[in-house]
Amino acid sequence: MSNYTPLSELGEFGLIKRLNEKIELTQPSTIKGIGDDAAILEPGEKQIVVTSDMLLEGVHFDLTFCPLKHLGYKAVAVNVSDIAAMFAKPTQITVNIALGAKYTVEAVEELYEGMRLACENYNVDLVGGDTTSSRTGLVISITAIGEVAKGEAVLRNGAKENDLICVTGDLGAAYLGLQILEREKQAFMADPEMQPQLEEKQYIVGRQLRPEARMDVIHDMKERDIKPTSMIDVSDGLASELFHICAQSGVGATIYKDNLPVDEQTLEAAMEFKLDPITCILNGGEDYELLFTVPLSDYDKVKNHPDISIIGKITDKSEGINLANKHGQSFPLQAQGWQHF
Ligand code: ADP
Ligand code: MG
Repeated sequence: MSNYTPLSELGEFGLIKRLNEKIELTQPSTIKGIGDDAAILEPGEKQIVVTSDMLLEGVHFDLTFCPLKHLGYKAVAVNVSDIAAMFAKPTQITVNIALGAKYTVEAVEELYEGMRLACENYNVDLVGGDTTSSRTGLVISITAIGEVAKGEAVLRNGAKENDLICVTGDLGAAYLGLQILEREKQAFMADPEMQPQLEEKQYIVGRQLRPEARMDVIHDMKERDIKPTSMIDVSDGLASELFHICAQSGVGATIYKDNLPVDEQTLEAAMEFKLDPITCILNGGEDYELLFTVPLSDYDKVKNHPDISIIGKITDKSEGINLANKHGQSFPLQAQGWQHF
């Protein structure tokens, strides 16, 4: 343990100085990053989008199975995902952390290494933050800033009857990845000699521990001239997000059960846990994929896209929100989502 530096040895200012050494600024709109009382940004003619997410130890993450580096990456990715869901480009983040006494300088550096990696991947500058102590667990609160041309942002309220409902990637994996991690943790606590068996579950465990924001699809849609009429990112689960789009757009929707995208590992894990795979896909959450609608006239542009599935259509509000099977039967969809309180 002697290789670890207690936080008290560096102090708050020393820690920030040390973290700042590895931070590079690349965004043209960043004028001043860490080091003064506030950062300075110069976005020009663009509109600014701003979003925050807070992660608490014991509520949103469990450090027994979540490496700090992954946690740092995820904390940035979930914020970038919200910027992506506005059809905007993330440009800067600020990072607030509250650290317990048990944290070492090296642990904080691991966390920041994950954040640095995410910043590099998404092309985002880390321009500031705040550091304080916590008497409970670790708290990470990130604010992300993004830019979008005037009038180009995509909101939740623009879905129209006959629009196609699309989703990126596959669903339900992060939820089942978490079930696997929880099970392995229980097994480990019962018998510390037990080694976790995760090789065949790598994809779904990775989806839980280190999700990606779908900025790749956003760039691609802009290139192909696809402009969604409404969009939201899937953090609480597809059903819950679809309810938001329908409520705010004043429309109904039909989702086709057979079109829902799912990975083989997700299906296998659902079987293992005796969970209904459709429930996991619809209500799993933490997938950080994008749910969006496009006009029917964009059908050709989305139909062969490798990362986009067409999963349903927008209907009149009076029809409600339904799940249809291949026999043409429809049942009202239940949105479970996650209750925080
Ligand atoms: P103040 O006392 O004015 O809040 P701080 O000492 O907290 O100033 O911050 C000094 C500089 O370091 C600021 O630029 C701030 O944004 C940055 N900073 C502080 N904590 C963090 C952190 N955890 N991550 C990134 N930047 C930080
Ligand atoms: Mg401060």
